[in-house]
Amino acid sequence: MLNIILFGPPGAGKGTQAARIVERFGLVHLSTGDILRQAIADQTEKGVEAKKFIDRGELVPDEMVVGIIEEKIAGHCDAKGFIFDGFPRTQPQAERLDAMLEKRGQAISGMVMLEVPDEEVVARLQRRASIEGRKDDQDESVIRNRLSVYKETTAPVAAYYEKKGKLQQINGVGAVEELTSQLIDLLGRL
Ligand code: AMP
Repeated sequence: MLNIILFGPPGAGKGTQAARIVERFGLVHLSTGDILRQAIADQTEKGVEAKKFIDRGELVPDEMVVGIIEEKIAGHCDAKGFIFDGFPRTQPQAERLDAMLEKRGQAISGMVMLEVPDEEVVARLQRRASIEGRKDDQDESVIRNRLSVYKETTAPVAAYYEKKGKLQQINGVGAVEELTSQLIDLLGRL
């Protein structure tokens, strides 16, 4: 089993890289952001609730995302492993994820952090706003809020996995293909 957390600020390229890596390793890609956006599009109860937080650049409550991940993991009992993208984003989410995997006799194999400087993040998200039309990319104050939530609440999750000897950091600036091959190389050694 290969259970990977792709970590980094919004706009680091986690979704792009996850999509390229799943094919290579036959893993299941779980992006809480994508799942929540689908729930919003479907106008489910969860989607309506989540939208209030997402539009402001805040985190949705832990219970909601943990519940989503629990359901997805349970629904893929024969998976070779998972790539978690955008999850966990808080310490309680990380602890719940570890407990979920432990119940299945598994664990996180490694967390890979894509490092991208703030101003590059802002520029990328502003470009993405016009390409993908995501509402939370449209407004610079929402982007800045997501960045500060990342620093204050999410970044400490990296320290949690570092203590377990599971953190790897790579430079997230550069050509997409180059980054993918670095990641494939790194994951192959886990
Ligand atoms: P993303 O596409 O990963 O950037 O997620 C978009 C938005 O969805 C975030 O800004 C949060 O509002 C929400 N979200 C996604 N994943 C999580 C998570 N693990 N915990 C809390 N909120 C999340």
